[in-house]
Amino acid sequence: MVGGGQLARMTHEAGIPLGIKFKLLSDTPQDSAAQVVSEVVVGDYRDLDTLRAFARGCDVITFDHEHVPTAHLRALEADGVPVRPGPDALVHAQDKGVMRAKLDAIGVPCPRHRIVSDPEDAARFAAEVAGGGAQHLGEGRWPGDGDGSGGFPVVLKTVRGGYDGKGVWVVRSSKEAEEPFRAGVPVLAEEKVDFARELAANIVRSPHGQAVAYPVVESIQVDGVCDTVIAPAPGLDPELAGHAQELALRIGQELGVVGHLAVELFETADGRILVNELAMRPHNSGHWTQDGAITSQFANHVRAVLDLPLGDPRPRARWTVMANVLGGDYPDMYSAYLHCMARDPQLKIHMYGKDVKPGRKVGHVNTYGDDLAEVRERAAHAAGYLRGTITE
Ligand code: ADP
Repeated sequence: MVGGGQLARMTHEAGIPLGIKFKLLSDTPQDSAAQVVSEVVVGDYRDLDTLRAFARGCDVITFDHEHVPTAHLRALEADGVPVRPGPDALVHAQDKGVMRAKLDAIGVPCPRHRIVSDPEDAARFAAEVAGGGAQHLGEGRWPGDGDGSGGFPVVLKTVRGGYDGKGVWVVRSSKEAEEPFRAGVPVLAEEKVDFARELAANIVRSPHGQAVAYPVVESIQVDGVCDTVIAPAPGLDPELAGHAQELALRIGQELGVVGHLAVELFETADGRILVNELAMRPHNSGHWTQDGAITSQFANHVRAVLDLPLGDPRPRARWTVMANVLGGDYPDMYSAYLHCMARDPQLKIHMYGKDVKPGRKVGHVNTYGDDLAEVRERAAHAAGYLRGTITE
C-alpha cells in the first residue's frame, strides 16, 4: 500500500487474519501505518524510481491516498504491476475537474460547476448560477449577465490536492476568490448547494466486477472535517437510499473502480441527491463498518484488491455511530481509556498512533445499539472525552 496514514494502518489490520503480506511505502517511519507494518519502505511517492523499487516483488499495489501522480501509475502498469484501482479510474478521485466532466457525461447529478480562470471569471460564474442557468460546461456557455457582481457565495476548489476541506473555499466576493488561485492549479467553481444533509454511498468492487453496497450513511461535518457518521442515514427515504446505492454501483462500474469507492452526496430539502465527490480507497464514512457491518470496508478493500470474493456488507446492529477523535491536547490517554471503557463496555476505540495536533484526526470510536439518541450520545461522549473537551 502506498501511503502510511491511518487508512493503511487499518487496511493492514484487516489483512492480518488472511495472512496477507503487507508492504508499505511511507513518508516517514513515524507515520500511523509505518508504526505497525513490518515491511516498510520510507520514500517519496512522487518519485517514480522510488515507486518502481517499492513495487518490485508486490503482487498488487493499492493506496491510502489519492496523491500519487497519474503518470507514475501508468508507468507502474506498463512495468506489469497490477495497480488497483488503476490510473484510469483513480484519476476521477484525483482531479475534481476530470471527475465532474465524467459524471456529466454519464448523466450523474452534480452541483452546477465549471472550471474558472481567475477571480473575475469566478464572479461571472456566480452571476450565471444566480441567473438560473442549468447548462454544464461543454454543453454550451452559461447564461447570465456576467457583470461580476451578483450570485455569491460560490464554492471554489483546487482540482487536485485537497482533503478535509483544505483546497475548498466558500467565497463571497471576487476579492475573496483570489486565494484559491494562489496555488497555481486549475480552480473548479461550484454552486453552493443548500443541502439538507450530507450522505455517503459506499461500495466495493472487485476486478471480476462483483460489487457490494453498504447502507447509505449520514455524514456530519464540523469546520469542513467529518465529525460523526450515522449508519444507516436516519429517516432516509428507502427509495432514495436504493437510488443512491445504484448510483454508486453505476459510477463504480462506469469508471472501472477496483476496491472501495466512497460517493459523497448532498441530499437536498426536496429529496434529490447530488454527487459531491469520489474517494477510491477506504473512507472515513466507512469506519463504522469495522464494528457495525458483517464485513468491514477494510476487509472488503483487501478482498477486492486481491480479486477474492467480497464479504457481506450488511449491518450487525440497528444503528452504528462513528465519531472522530480530533487531536486536542490530552495529557493522559490511560485515564481517558479508564473512563471511557468503564462508562461504556460496548464502546470500540480505534486510535491511530498519531502525534496529537489540534484539529487533526487521531482516532475514532464506534458505538451501536437500538436507540439512536443513546448510541449518538455514547459516541459523542467518548470522542469528546478522548479529545479532552469533555472531562466528566
Ligand atoms: P475535500 O477534498 O476536502 O473532501 P469536498 O469537495 O468534499 O472536499 O468539500 C468539503 C466540504 O465542503 C463538503 O463536505 C461540504 O460540506 C462542503 N462543500 C463542498 N462542495 C460544496 C458545494 N458545492 N456546496 C455546498 N457545500 C460544499
